[in-house]
This record gives sequence, C-alpha cells and structure tokens, in this order.
Amino acid sequence: MIQTIAIVVPVFREEKNLRNLYQRLEQATVQVHDVAWEYIFVNDGSPDDSLTVLRELAARDQRVKVIDFSRNFGKEVALTAGVHAADADAVICMDADLQHPPELIPTLIDTWRRSGAEIVATVRTGIDKQPLLRRIGSHGYYWLMSRISGLDMMSQTTDFRLFDRKVVDAFRGVTERQPMFRGIMDWMGFRKVYVEFHAGAREAGVAGYSYRQLLRLAVSSITSFSLFPLRLIGYLGVLITLLSGGLLTWMLCSYFLLGQHMYTPLAIVVVANTFFIGVVLMAMGLISLYIGTIHTEVINRPLYIIRERLNFGSEAAPPRR
Ligand code: UDP
Ligand code: MG
Repeated sequence: MIQTIAIVVPVFREEKNLRNLYQRLEQATVQVHDVAWEYIFVNDGSPDDSLTVLRELAARDQRVKVIDFSRNFGKEVALTAGVHAADADAVICMDADLQHPPELIPTLIDTWRRSGAEIVATVRTGIDKQPLLRRIGSHGYYWLMSRISGLDMMSQTTDFRLFDRKVVDAFRGVTERQPMFRGIMDWMGFRKVYVEFHAGAREAGVAGYSYRQLLRLAVSSITSFSLFPLRLIGYLGVLITLLSGGLLTWMLCSYFLLGQHMYTPLAIVVVANTFFIGVVLMAMGLISLYIGTIHTEVINRPLYIIRERLNFGSEAAPPRR
C-alpha cells in the first residue's frame, strides 16, 4: 500500500540552501519504498530570492508545493501552515538550512512504521559552532519551560520530527492562536520515540532567529503555557501584604498598647501605605488572571496570511478551521 508523506520546510532567507536541500531530499527519499512524497515549502516572507528558487523547483517537480506568506510570520507559524496544508499519512518537519540531515528521513519512517509511535522526535547529540550564549539560553529555556508548564520538554530535541496523521488531525483541532508549534505538539501527548543525530552547522546564510526573536518566543510560550507571570504579581502582593501587615500590627501595638514611642506616626503611615499597596497588587494579580484567560480567547485574528499557493491543485485554500 502506498503511503503519502509530506515534508514541511519553513523557509526564511534560504536561497543558497534550497537547491542543495532539494537534491539531498531527492537522494534520501528514493531509498524509501511505497511512498508518495510531497515537499511543502512555506516561504515565510523571505526578503531574498528564496521564492524564485522555490518557483523554479515547483515548475520542475509537481511534488514541490509552495505556500507563500504575505510577510514574515516566524518559523513556528510557517510550520503550522505547512502542517495544516499537508494531506498525508505522516508529516515530517525540518529546517531548510541542512542542520537537519535529510539522510535521517528513511530512519524516521522506519522507526515510525516499526514502533507504532505517533511521533518520532529527534535529539541532537552535538552542535558544531553554536555560540555559548545560545547554548546556555536554550538549556535554560527548556529547564524553565518543563518546570512551569509541567510538560515533558526535553532539551536538545529539535523540530525535526515525524508526525502521524492522527497527530496532524488533532493539531488541526487546536483552536489556540499561539504560535508555539512545538509546545502544542508536546501538550497533545501521543506516543513518542526518539532518534539521535549529530547536528552540523548551518550550510549557508545566517541563522534567521535573532536573540531578540528567541527571547520573544520564549516569553510568549511561557505566558501561553502557564499563568506564572500573572500569578507572580499576586504572589508579590501576598508577600508585601503579609510582611507590612505584620510590621504594622507590631507598630500599632507598641504605640498604643505598650506606649513605646519608638516609631513615629509618619513611619506607621508609610508601613500602612505599603500594606495597602500589597492589597492592591493582590487584587491586580487576581484580575489579571481573568484578563489573561479572556485575552487568549478573544484575539480572533488568523495566525497567518497566504499570498499564493503553488502546486496545490486548483482547490481553494482550505479554511484554517
Ligand atoms: N525560519 C522561518 N522564519 C523565520 C526564521 C527562520 O521560517 O522567521 C526558518 C529557517 O528558514 C529555517 C528554520 O526556520 O528553515 C530554522 O531557522 P534557523 O536556522 O535560523 O534557526 P536555528 O537553526 O538557529 O534554530
Ligand atoms: Mg538553523
């Protein structure tokens, strides 16, 4: 029985890598039998000639499908759009910069077919030439995320993954508009197995993610997967209220009951003031919890806008939900 497998690749400033990637994909995929392939490239508003190269590939090979975003929406969103567009028994997500070796694809498929797991994730065993700050940041991020989200997020797992159709169908039902692709995938559960590979340095071009973008992604994933930052305000309020409340009680007792005049009325007023600030912070923390929930529900914007689709046949773009 022929299975269809879609390979989803987000593309941002990859003009120098795409031909090479396509070639290596070709070489890797011919080794797997009984599979109809689909290469879905999502051009995430690349300012370079990535789209031109993609058009060229799409004109030559009907299996190359292209989704062109109206602007840069970020890798997570590009992956989401690619997975939404895939109609296949399994979807493999990978980067365009050849840090995810196409040669691993047969292994992924083999593992998927044999283990019966719905997700085959990859773990990188080493990264050549990754800046220290980047490594520390990435480890710290996964440590923090798995602490506060309660999800099993292994550090060093990558976005190079195979998803069974069941996972993809479940993903389509996720109505959340947060672009945390990997976070949502982890949240959904399913059976997962790991395959190891050695990650190389990116072939050409520069890493599209700046530290600023990575930080923004980290913050948005933390806020969307936990109410921790909102709770922090409340906790701070509780702390301030307790401390200053205790101090205030002590001051008032010593002033009125013990008749000691160590504390001036002004000092007492200042502490009383701090006490009320604590109460206000607590109330704000409480309110922001509700606002946070409403906020995520209310933003009714589509996650991405597509300018053009190539080789998807004449059918209109499927509604996102
Ligand atoms: N990418 C994207 N949109 C962006 C940034 C990156 O689609 O805004 C793609 C990029 O083309 C590549 C993948 O995401 O295929 C990973 O990007 P990069 O290599 O820059 O990130 P890193 O390997 O450092 O995680
Ligand atoms: Mg990369």
